[in-house]
Amino acid sequence: MDHKSLWAFIEGDRYGCDWIIIVLIGDSGVGKSNLLSRFTRNEFNLESKSTIGVEFATRGIQVDGKTIKAQIWDTAGQERYRAITSAYYRGAVGALLVYDVAKHGTYDNVDRWLKELRDHADSNIVIMLVGNKSDLRHLRAVPTNEAKSFAEANGLCFIETSALDSQNVEQAFHQILTQIYRIVSNKAIESSNENVQPGSGAQIIVPTADDGSKPANKCC
Ligand code: GDP
Ligand code: MG
Repeated sequence: MDHKSLWAFIEGDRYGCDWIIIVLIGDSGVGKSNLLSRFTRNEFNLESKSTIGVEFATRGIQVDGKTIKAQIWDTAGQERYRAITSAYYRGAVGALLVYDVAKHGTYDNVDRWLKELRDHADSNIVIMLVGNKSDLRHLRAVPTNEAKSFAEANGLCFIETSALDSQNVEQAFHQILTQIYRIVSNKAIESSNENVQPGSGAQIIVPTADDGSKPANKCC
């Protein structure tokens, strides 16, 4: 999110409303569309077909006693052709980077997706690495610990999910949305304390962890 849209968001007026925007990325077939349908409609589709029609879905969740509204964008299959445009990332404050725990190749490509985020998304975007299809125990190809260590080393949040049996799907979205909400609320408090006006060109300071080692928005 650039500074202008962050200010607009703090003011509850991001393009006319106060949505938190999350994008789904990762290789084709890893279960992005089903994670979205599980979270927003509690639906799962066994058929493998590329996303048609649905560009995004919304859901409200409670955080710290407040309802926050999430707008979650799906790739509509463009990832198949490596044709995701930078417009897809515009305004996104969070990304779920999904791989398939039963297909090592989709995990190998996580680096490529991180580069894509570096090139196209806001540098403060909160990223959660999601190992989906945890129900496929007998086919597991990516050990949990390996992915967890990778996530820690790269300052990403990490979770394993199953859109099929619903394991951790709520938790994945709740964790990232809560993390984003708290960062944005902290910024709102910081800015009101400093009494800085939107558009004044003031720098937005990303909160750091207690030990000051890394930005607090880099890991749940
Ligand atoms: P996308 O291309 O990343 O959007 O992936 P889809 O959501 O279209 O899912 C691709 C295929 O994986 C479909 O056949 C789904 O039924 C299947 N799938 C998605 N999530 C899961 C899961 O958690 N477990 C299992 N076993 N299959 C899944
Ligand atoms: Mg899809």
